[in-house]
Amino acid sequence: MLHRPMFNPLYPIKQNDENILSIGQDSKLYELEDKDGAIFTLLTMLDGSKTTSQLHDGLRKKFPHVTLEDIQQVIQALNELGFIIDLSIKETSSLSSYEQERFKANIHFFSHFSEQLAIVNEHAMTSQEKLCSSTVTIIGMGGFGSSVLFNLAGLGIKKVRIVDFDTVSLSNLNRQFLFNEKDIGKKKINVAQTFMQDFYSNMQIEAVDKQINHPEVAEEVIVGSDVVVLAADQPTILLQRWVNSACVNQGIPFIGGGIAIDHGQISTVIPKQTGCVDCMHLHRLQNMSIYRQHIQSSIETPFTPPNMATPSNLMMVAGMIGSELTKLLTGIAPLQSNGKVIYFNLLTFKTEIIGDWPRMISCPTCGDQPDSSFKEQLQSLFTDQQYTFMKKEELGWN
Ligand SMILES: [Zn+2]
Repeated sequence: MLHRPMFNPLYPIKQNDENILSIGQDSKLYELEDKDGAIFTLLTMLDGSKTTSQLHDGLRKKFPHVTLEDIQQVIQALNELGFIIDLSIKETSSLSSYEQERFKANIHFFSHFSEQLAIVNEHAMTSQEKLCSSTVTIIGMGGFGSSVLFNLAGLGIKKVRIVDFDTVSLSNLNRQFLFNEKDIGKKKINVAQTFMQDFYSNMQIEAVDKQINHPEVAEEVIVGSDVVVLAADQPTILLQRWVNSACVNQGIPFIGGGIAIDHGQISTVIPKQTGCVDCMHLHRLQNMSIYRQHIQSSIETPFTPPNMATPSNLMMVAGMIGSELTKLLTGIAPLQSNGKVIYFNLLTFKTEIIGDWPRMISCPTCGDQPDSSFKEQLQSLFTDQQYTFMKKEELGWN
């Protein structure tokens, strides 16, 4: 039952000469017959300030033949097509009027998905409520981590845990805009916390000054999160496997991303839904003859290039992570990187799926029937890996 229907102002209404109304645009475009202009007049009155009987009172002065049932039918039909917002939800929402104003653009965006949301008895405001009540952990407060933190603030996420041990350095400032020249030498997590006190004072940041150097540390830092963003990459391969195992154990989805010279990659693991990182390794072991050799050579002769992320390249990939995170927390649309690696060409802007793996029932980490021989395969693949953190000073390029 719609109490105070409003035609969603995201969409245009056009009245043409043949008394055909066109409503919406692009993928949401419909035409309908409106011989006497009554529907057009009704649409112009749908500003959310009137009940259906008030709309009827107003409309019948000019169109005496229009009944209350006619109006209800038109509104119902438009609602099913996703064009109607019931403004009375503003009063019942758990969002404060401050939050409704601050995140108005987000709510407008979510209203585009009202058809899908209605299926699960939700609406645009519910999506924003979900974001405001979510808890997100970001592992790493470097380029990705700090850009994703901005995304979280703009999305309205209030509970955020950030995990890092590093300090701000001059060369961070080409892409890590949370920090400024006066912050050089300070702990990144502390600067991020101070920044957010002014930018989004409702955000409660838990700053964890830790280096994830053991699977148990990964388990500790993600407790209670709705989503984890893996925005660090050291120690190579191991960190991803530790976070994967911790997230699978605690049933928390995680999104990871990385950037190379001319491309970025993102990937999402949703425990019990998609394959996990170990499923990916097993899948590749079974399907790529050179995979074992490839992993072993990258363990034996690790190559860690200097950071080459320009601000624009980094922001594009961080934005993709933010978009996947939004979809994951609100359910407005399907994710693109779930159980897949999305490759994003930073020069042509083309994306493609370069890794797509199933969830393996025998996976020792996430499978329902873990197989010990698979565990041995993984152990033999990674057993010799010595994880060493590449110290920036040692590399001499920071
Ligand atoms: Zn798995």
